[in-house]
Amino acid sequence: MFIQELFDGLTKDSCTVVKENEHSLQKIEMPDVLYSTKDMAKAGFIHKPTDNSPDVAQCFFCYKELEGWEPEDDPLKEHKSHSPACNFILLNKAVEQLTVEEILKLQKERQKFHIKMSCKHVIEKFEEAAKSKRGDIIKLAMEG
Ligand SMILES: [Zn+2]
Repeated sequence: MFIQELFDGLTKDSCTVVKENEHSLQKIEMPDVLYSTKDMAKAGFIHKPTDNSPDVAQCFFCYKELEGWEPEDDPLKEHKSHSPACNFILLNKAVEQLTVEEILKLQKERQKFHIKMSCKHVIEKFEEAAKSKRGDIIKLAMEG
């Protein structure tokens, strides 16, 4: 029962991501760009527009952001070339074809990836602060 509920939850989550992607990407109003919103969603992209970049798309798994889409771009090929280590891309499967094991693995890897990114951000902030403090200490020592 627990496994079934977990599976339902994860499946629903994965499918929702794609549906939301499709829905979100369909809001793009750029007549010059002819790529399919469905292909964008199937390639794992979520529409993340900003004021300066209305066509930013971000991978739901690896968080890679791509912009400046051209009509001839293939979203899946672009994803593969710009983020070859993305676990979603490495699975090489449509979301609806994923097995329970693959969904669980993907969720686990996504969580690990997210933790890694968060830690990297905290370490960078710490190193920045340490560098600034080191500068203050040297300045004080020179004055004294
Ligand atoms: Zn990705």
